[in-house]
Amino acid sequence: MELASRVKTLSPSSTLAITAKANELKKQGHDVIGLGAGEPDFNTPEYILNAAANAMNHGYTKYTPSGGIPELKQAIVNKFQTDNGLRYTAEEIIVTTGAKHALYTLFQVLLDKGDEVIVPAPYWVSYPEQIKLAEGNPVIISAKEQNSFKITPEQIEKAITPKTKAVIINSPNNPTGMVYSKEELREIGDICLRHDVLIVSDEIYEKLIYTNDSHVSIAEISSSLKKQTVIINGVSKSHAMTGWRIGYAAGPVEVIKPMTNLASHSTSNPTSIAQHAALAAYQTDGDPNAEMRQIFAERLELLYGLLQDIPGISCVKPKGAFYLFPNVQEAMNMNGFETVDDWVKALLEEEKVALVPGTGFGVHENVRLSYATSSDALKEASHRMNRFINNHRS
Ligand code: PMP
Ligand code: GLU
Repeated sequence: MELASRVKTLSPSSTLAITAKANELKKQGHDVIGLGAGEPDFNTPEYILNAAANAMNHGYTKYTPSGGIPELKQAIVNKFQTDNGLRYTAEEIIVTTGAKHALYTLFQVLLDKGDEVIVPAPYWVSYPEQIKLAEGNPVIISAKEQNSFKITPEQIEKAITPKTKAVIINSPNNPTGMVYSKEELREIGDICLRHDVLIVSDEIYEKLIYTNDSHVSIAEISSSLKKQTVIINGVSKSHAMTGWRIGYAAGPVEVIKPMTNLASHSTSNPTSIAQHAALAAYQTDGDPNAEMRQIFAERLELLYGLLQDIPGISCVKPKGAFYLFPNVQEAMNMNGFETVDDWVKALLEEEKVALVPGTGFGVHENVRLSYATSSDALKEASHRMNRFINNHRS
């Protein structure tokens, strides 16, 4: 069968693939340590589970409005006001089937064939694929490791052409854990305003910062930047709800409305029960993320410290998310591997440690380690990595 050209070069998400591979090996009885996970290893909090059960028992099992139930939209409006000082109306919000589908839908409504989106690398694996699926061109610009993996305003300005529609900013970043400051965002924002480029601000790791740096949404810097930005967020990471598939986008009505129309023909609506669960997540007082954040902060210190003792590996210390993105070029050289994919593959085969190669994030010398796993697993993983590198020393 001749399939559409748009899927011919489409490969599965490497982050999901590595987790699937690690799980498969575990099932076969191998003692695998998976550091590939892109999701918190915590259960969804009980008050959220209860809200979902209540929703089912009260008959919230039918179609909902395509852009989400009004109560949840209002709760998201309130969240933006409280957390980010941003005033949106319900018409400026769409609830989606995970943040991933918010991005997918956004690129579908935004891009015509050949339109360009600037994607700073290291980038999350799905951005370029989603842009290509919308017939757009991802224009990759590489952030330097020496610059803490942050893109400079000059790099963005240089990449802008008459075809540029948007630029993606992801802070805290997956895979590097880097966080942009308000000043850095202001400079980037000024350029986008000057060239009328939309900012896609992926803030899914907003709640997971472990330093004194605070999360700044580029939209909160000025009212003109708010108009120029679509924020992507969701409950997957903040409330350990990856499987529930609830995300959202906030932005100008002229973008959100067609996104909602498109959703009405693709998903109809995000799952009714999951929307009620997300509503409970946002209606809770206090800081429901505090405990998870504390544990992640401790693990970051642990794993970052352990990496210092592994030969051939160097790492810029992340500030947020739950990943480290160390450079392993020297280890690869010592071990006689040409590509990071081969190095990662051999590590999995020989030592049963699963990492995600940097290739899927647009980088060829680094690997992503997730610390969404126990401290014991992190210690054992670093022990095995050490052994692997020493065994292969030529
Ligand atoms: N953006 C980034 C940077 C992510 O890491 C993820 C995680 N998959 C997403 C978006 C999508 O999140 P969701 O699970 O809500 O689709
Ligand atoms: N965001 C996670 C990751 O980067 C989940 C996997 C995915 O959706 O690609 O690993």
